Amino acid sequence: MTSDTPIGVRLRPEIVAVPPYKQGRPAPADGYKLSSNENPYPPLPSVVEAVAATLRDLNRYPNAGGADLRARLAERHGVALEQVHLGSGSVALLAQLIMAAAGTGDEVVYSWRSFEAYPGLVTATGATSVQVPNRADGSHDLAAMADAITDRTRVVIVCTPNNPTGTIVTADDFAAFMERVPSDLLVLLDEAYYEFVTDDASVDGIPLLSRYSNLVVLRTFSKAYGLAALRIGYAVGPAAVLDAARSAAIPLSVTDASRVAALAAIDAEDELMERVARVAMRRDRLREALIEQGWNVPQAQGNFVWLATGEQTAAANDAFFDAGLTVRAFPPEGIRVSVGEEESVEELLRVAADVVRNLP
Ligand code: PMP
Repeated sequence: MTSDTPIGVRLRPEIVAVPPYKQGRPAPADGYKLSSNENPYPPLPSVVEAVAATLRDLNRYPNAGGADLRARLAERHGVALEQVHLGSGSVALLAQLIMAAAGTGDEVVYSWRSFEAYPGLVTATGATSVQVPNRADGSHDLAAMADAITDRTRVVIVCTPNNPTGTIVTADDFAAFMERVPSDLLVLLDEAYYEFVTDDASVDGIPLLSRYSNLVVLRTFSKAYGLAALRIGYAVGPAAVLDAARSAAIPLSVTDASRVAALAAIDAEDELMERVARVAMRRDRLREALIEQGWNVPQAQGNFVWLATGEQTAAANDAFFDAGLTVRAFPPEGIRVSVGEEESVEELLRVAADVVRNLP
């Protein structure tokens, strides 16, 4: 199907209708950017050095196969090399995997609200999104998601911790869900915030790969490993599915800079995981303090918290912005605030105390 544009070029109307992915307002220079769930710590010197060493080869295409990084990841996760696939951010892998399994007339089921990129990626393949509302506590309603599966469903996406609400899927709930999912239906378990999880009840996807032949787990170096700018993520799953994702990939999009940065980050894992632990503790402190102020904050297991500001979302967003805090607003539902620098927490709590008083 095509449509005419003001300049007479025929485009797909369903694509024209999708709002492009937005990053939100830029943060003021003297403020805090708490809008993209980034790691507040600067890159390690070893990572910067590894990236710098790749600059002398900028005239060459990258070693996009990335066998060294894939081998490293395969070893740490106890899987075969063919079960690891790299992408320029896990969002690229999501696109490839959805494209590999779903096309025109097919359906993709996921919880909503969840990661903002899902609807656009699904539409781009020609498939239809089937969005199953989150439960009142912000968590996935896995029973309703299983009920939403039809003959046309080709992919189900499960996001844990869920962006933007912060809730996890438990191991038990995931097992019960998988009992109900036909084994020919691709399940994508988006674990972008995996390393920040401290709740032992949480599902852990990679060890489950030996049990489910239709499961792919997505991880990223953008969050816990602090490499958001370099765009590198990975998928772990059945080789046959990942081969199809590779066929749908834009060639050569994983750069040498991102690959060596990921290797250097794995080398420095202990130090990076200490940082992650600090962010997780800061998150728990922040959540408790917000609850004391009267906020109803759902379980927060990523590097962010969710504030249910409802109809007041735009006004609350402005109040945070005026105080130098750039947060992510999802009107008319709520605001997602990333756990940033230690100093940002007091500032955030100061504004949040004012905002909560104006909520109905
Ligand atoms: N999944 C989720 C749930 C996310 O929140 C994000 C980033 N915001 C991504 C995937 C994509 O991350 P990246 O492409 O940086 O790996």
